[in-house]
Amino acid sequence: MKKLALHWKIIIGMVLGIIWALVSSSMGWSAFTINWIDPFGTIFINLLKLIAVPLVLFSIISGVANIGDPKSLGRMGGKTLGMYLVTTILAITLGLVLVNIIKPGKLIDEQSRIDNRINYEIWADSQGYQIKDGINYLKDPAYLQRAQEISDLTKKALKEVSVSDKLETAGKQKETTPLQPLVDIVPDNFFRALSNNGLMLQVIFFAIFFGVSLLFVPDDKSEPVLKLVDGINEVFLKMVDLVMQAAPFFVFALLAGVVSKMAGDDIGKVLEIFKGLSWYSLTVLSGLLIMIFITYPLILKGFVKKISYSGFFKAMSPAQTLAFSTSSSAATLPVTMECVEQNLGVNKKISSFVLPIGATVNMDGTSLYQAVAVIFLAQLHMIDLTIGQQITVVLTTTLASIGSAAVPSAGLVMLIIVLDSVGLNPAWIAIIFPVDRILDMFRTVVNVTGDATVCSIIADGENMLDYQEKKSPTDTFDLD
Ligand code: ASP
Repeated sequence: MKKLALHWKIIIGMVLGIIWALVSSSMGWSAFTINWIDPFGTIFINLLKLIAVPLVLFSIISGVANIGDPKSLGRMGGKTLGMYLVTTILAITLGLVLVNIIKPGKLIDEQSRIDNRINYEIWADSQGYQIKDGINYLKDPAYLQRAQEISDLTKKALKEVSVSDKLETAGKQKETTPLQPLVDIVPDNFFRALSNNGLMLQVIFFAIFFGVSLLFVPDDKSEPVLKLVDGINEVFLKMVDLVMQAAPFFVFALLAGVVSKMAGDDIGKVLEIFKGLSWYSLTVLSGLLIMIFITYPLILKGFVKKISYSGFFKAMSPAQTLAFSTSSSAATLPVTMECVEQNLGVNKKISSFVLPIGATVNMDGTSLYQAVAVIFLAQLHMIDLTIGQQITVVLTTTLASIGSAAVPSAGLVMLIIVLDSVGLNPAWIAIIFPVDRILDMFRTVVNVTGDATVCSIIADGENMLDYQEKKSPTDTFDLD
């Protein structure tokens, strides 16, 4: 009997997880789901992250040391960063076009928008900002009472979603010199870099440094090191295969947990959450889906003729379904690497360093979402951003997406910086917070798909793409 492909098993796991959560909510069992099923989802993410850091370390060392020529490394590095930047700017532009056409923030009822505007004016006043456009409700005595009510409500709402922690995190990011990101890439302690998932760039830096140095060591000394590194690498890949055998179950647990946490014991709450944010969510989603199903395939077709549309999706579906269920490109990285290498035929020398860098700095989905979110929030508060401000949005979202960690909700936290850059209230992230997890799932799929697209293009340019439409995603993670 033909085996069911892995991505189908994962999709079935996801659907069953959602069904379970909906049933358990309506039966009043959500606490059971959160206490007894959701932890398996966390175990899954932990397992994948556990593998990701050493896998990146050893695969980069092996990739770089096998490349033979440090010059080609520099050329590839330049091309990789260039392509990552281009795809990010493309994603932001698409987001801006969609949000300016659909105008989701203006589709909210007039009364709520006036309330929001008053809210903005109170905040701008407290910051000492001059409001440039003509509207000013605070100067109108008819709105005085409402202003007081809104101010009280806002304080209460902010406490509920603990925005203050997030503001603090982002605040810390801001207090640095322009070259700080560069300084942060160079670790002063190798073990500290390894012990913290957020320091992936430091691990990448160390691995490249180690790999390049190995090229200069005489063969009799470097060969045993390389053999060991390659051997260890194999073990980590087997660990991925082992974990993936249980992926459908783990994904069931993840989805059951996510939905149960949203719904509690009242399914109606899920619908309630989307009310008012539905147009915003649809705008973000349409942008993300265009990226996945139109933009990337077109870019890929433009550069690499041999990978077919369906072939690409067939190859990447395990990574895409996993990105969706974990909301973390870092946790998905081991699987992304395996899909790209085994199904798309990208040589390890390329994938081992293009993909980890991509998972850390290339987040097209996150940048698209941030661009839409900022303009939506401005529209919601009756603020028209000038072209100059929109250009600032492009620049800051590019930086913010590079700076976002590859973990759930990182994009939301970094949005604070984007809002701040155009003089908007960072605490507004509280408004879009309720739907963030769902959008996070989709934008993580885009992030992962973008990395794989760029990786295939770079590999083809270096003549290191050996694509054959042969394997089903099930074979990839087989243990033999
Ligand atoms: N969850 C995303 C990722 O890991 C980052 C984000 O947009 O929050 O790729």
